[in-house]
Amino acid sequence: MSEKRSFDVVVVGGGVIGLSCAWRLAQRGAEVAVLERGEPGGGATRVAAGMLAPVGELTFGEPELLELTLAAARLYPEFVAELETATGQSTGYERIGALHVALDRDEAAQLRRVHDLQRSLDLEAEWLSTRRCRQLEPGLAPSFHGGVLAAGEAAIDPRALTQVLLAACVSEGVEVHAGTEVVEGIFESERLVGVRTASRRFDSHETSNHRLDEIRAETVLLAAGAWSGRADWLPPDARPVVRPVKGQVVELRTRDGEPPARHILASERVYLVPRSDGRLVVGATVEEMGFDTTVTAGGVHELLREAYRLLPDVAEMELVDAVAGLRPGTPDNLPLVGPGAVDGLVLATGHYRNGILLAPLAAETLAEKLVGVPQ
Ligand code: FAD
Repeated sequence: MSEKRSFDVVVVGGGVIGLSCAWRLAQRGAEVAVLERGEPGGGATRVAAGMLAPVGELTFGEPELLELTLAAARLYPEFVAELETATGQSTGYERIGALHVALDRDEAAQLRRVHDLQRSLDLEAEWLSTRRCRQLEPGLAPSFHGGVLAAGEAAIDPRALTQVLLAACVSEGVEVHAGTEVVEGIFESERLVGVRTASRRFDSHETSNHRLDEIRAETVLLAAGAWSGRADWLPPDARPVVRPVKGQVVELRTRDGEPPARHILASERVYLVPRSDGRLVVGATVEEMGFDTTVTAGGVHELLREAYRLLPDVAEMELVDAVAGLRPGTPDNLPLVGPGAVDGLVLATGHYRNGILLAPLAAETLAEKLVGVPQ
């Protein structure tokens, strides 16, 4: 940790949300530190598939969430362009579109209902015949019942995005401290004025050199993802209602390094996100299992079975990895971005299934609230 112990904003949590907010705040003139107890991006961000898909992920009865995800998708091209220009690194962002396929008659009926909703909301989505779907994606299952193309949807590589955000943060003067866990809040007259941390240095096998540091800030920004609800360094009534929702994904790779599909592919039970280097991310289970992050045989089996039903070529691909992460879920599935329950505390958490997509919006909203709109 440097000599400096006082910042305008100290961000607790170095996932996509914390890093995006830190970067924007610093760009608008704030002095910012990010405290991350593990590696930046090592939480849910590392596991996410990176779909930026407000239209295909549309759910009945969630109009407010749709408004947010559409607004975030509109911000994305400029967000990425700014980051890539600032750092000279790629985030893997590509507007490849998403093709949602109905594998049986029941799925076709459900997809029609979703498509009717998409059309009633004037969203960019087109019903395609089976033949037309197959023209777009020749590797699809031998038989299915049509599909919906959402041509404007995009994908990004969340691990690449993390590296780009880190580089952009550093170039804006943000201090990013990995291996630094916030363990205590500092209060003065009931206002949160800073945090105490337990720092760890990592050597090759174990952690060592624990020590406590005190960091003061005008604003403490809670961006601790699924752990926000059990931030025991805050009084119980100041901890936001956020719960972990487990998700498992499997990563495959084509043998020749060619992308396995041109679009994001999805059925009712699985989605496949192709990367330009031949990887394919198969996601995702949704499990209420507390803080458990075990990769299970059942979870992997379900993902591979459904991926195979959609794109039989997956059987020939290399199995690269299987990982599990914790989405920060809220009771109404909406993120919590704004003032916390004690003075000095601001929240940027609860982004549940859409944190990668919503990151530019969270960052913009908070920068406006905390440092104002740029002239
Ligand atoms: P995280 O990335 O979890 O970061 C929180 C950080 O806070 C962690 O690194 C943690 O170590 C740190 N922390 C916690 N407590 C402390 C403390 N006391 N002190 C210091 N640090 C602390 N979203 C999409 O938009 N598109 C997708 O395709 C997508 N797919 C997903 C697939 C899966 C399987 C999962 C699990 C999630 C997916 N998501 C997707 C959701 C997305 O990953 C999350 O919404 C997003 O990563 C949340 O980011 P975050 O920064 O809030 O949390």
